[in-house]
Amino acid sequence: MNVKLTYFPDLNDHSKAKIIKARIGTIRKIRADEQIKKMEIQKLANKIRGVLTGAIGITKSVSGIGVACPNEIASRLAICENCEIREGKKCGSCGCYIEHKTRLANEECPKGYWGPVPICEKR
Ligand code: SF4
Repeated sequence: MNVKLTYFPDLNDHSKAKIIKARIGTIRKIRADEQIKKMEIQKLANKIRGVLTGAIGITKSVSGIGVACPNEIASRLAICENCEIREGKKCGSCGCYIEHKTRLANEECPKGYWGPVPICEKR
C-alpha cells in the first residue's frame, strides 16, 4: 500500500509510521464496512427473491396453474405431515407453505422426500 506523507515533512520516522498505521486502519475499516453493506444488500435481495417466488407459487397453486393430480398431492401431504423438519404450516427447510408447495407439480422436497410429478391433465 502506498501512503504519502508529503503534508508532514518535519515528522520523525516513528510519527510517520503511526500516521501510516492509522490510515491503513481507516482504509481497512472502510473496506470492512463496504463488505458488510454488500452482504446486507445480498441478504435483502435473497429475501425479496424468496417472497416473490413464494407469491408466484401461491398464485399458481390457488389459480390451478401447473398443479399435480389429487393423489400425488395427498401422498406429498402425508409425507410432509410426518416430517420432523415441518414447522406448522411451513416447510422448515425452504420456508414454503406446505399446502401450496405440495400442489405444484414441478415442486420438490428440499430434503428429497418427494419429487416433481407431471402436471395433472384431468382437472
Ligand atoms: S417439503 Fe420435505 S422437508 Fe419440507 S416439510 Fe415436506 S417432507 Fe419435510
